[in-house]
Amino acid sequence: MKKLYLLAPFFMLFFGLEAAANGFETDTIKTTAGDLKITFIGHGTLIFVFGGKVIHVDPWTKLADYSKMPKADVILITHGHRDHLDVKALETLRTEKTAVILPEICAGSIEGGMVMHNGDVDIVEALKIEAVPAYNMVHMRSEGRPFHPKGEGNGYVITFGDKRVYVAGDTENTPEMKNLKDIHVAFLPMNLPYTMTPEMVTAAAKAIKPKVLYPYHYGNTDTSKLIDLMKGSKDIQVCIRKMT
Ligand code: ZN
Ligand code: ZN
Repeated sequence: MKKLYLLAPFFMLFFGLEAAANGFETDTIKTTAGDLKITFIGHGTLIFVFGGKVIHVDPWTKLADYSKMPKADVILITHGHRDHLDVKALETLRTEKTAVILPEICAGSIEGGMVMHNGDVDIVEALKIEAVPAYNMVHMRSEGRPFHPKGEGNGYVITFGDKRVYVAGDTENTPEMKNLKDIHVAFLPMNLPYTMTPEMVTAAAKAIKPKVLYPYHYGNTDTSKLIDLMKGSKDIQVCIRKMT
């Protein structure tokens, strides 16, 4: 029994590498508290591994076989659309210890989640997590009905060591987004009609000034447009990963 117990950390490491080797791209960001590994699952879905903790963002069974993924210490849900809130993925990744962070609108679908409202700040699994409003101002489903109404969805800023990572969720370049400070890595959504055009992402990036910009949730949007628009902003590295 004791031997099995000692092997547990190695199994965890193995699962981490397995996730990376599943055909998904990964990047490593250095922080003062160790490496942050980002796995790009696709669309609005990510995995962060940091300090032995696994954080899944908007896990979606359409994109990955979650039975083969490392279990979650934290799951972040941005809003209730089916490409973001997938109960099956969530139940596969969840253990009795998993902290599930979600906006109130998702609380009815998930038992035992921890609701964060826009503007809330919490410490979860020793990580500082801030909920940022995510909403449309321009793109509407119909007259006056935004695809993402203000107050319903969250983006999240997660602090890993000295690096702050912003995962915007489905949103446009809101004043709250443009006011964010000290963001090292920003994930900004770029598809119409639900989120932002390359021009809107550029305006947001120029305001936030992240060191690294990942457009994500970009569907069929031509990412070369963003690269062209960002040419003058030498301090911001634009990284394109498979996040269609
Ligand atoms: Zn959405
Ligand atoms: Zn979406």
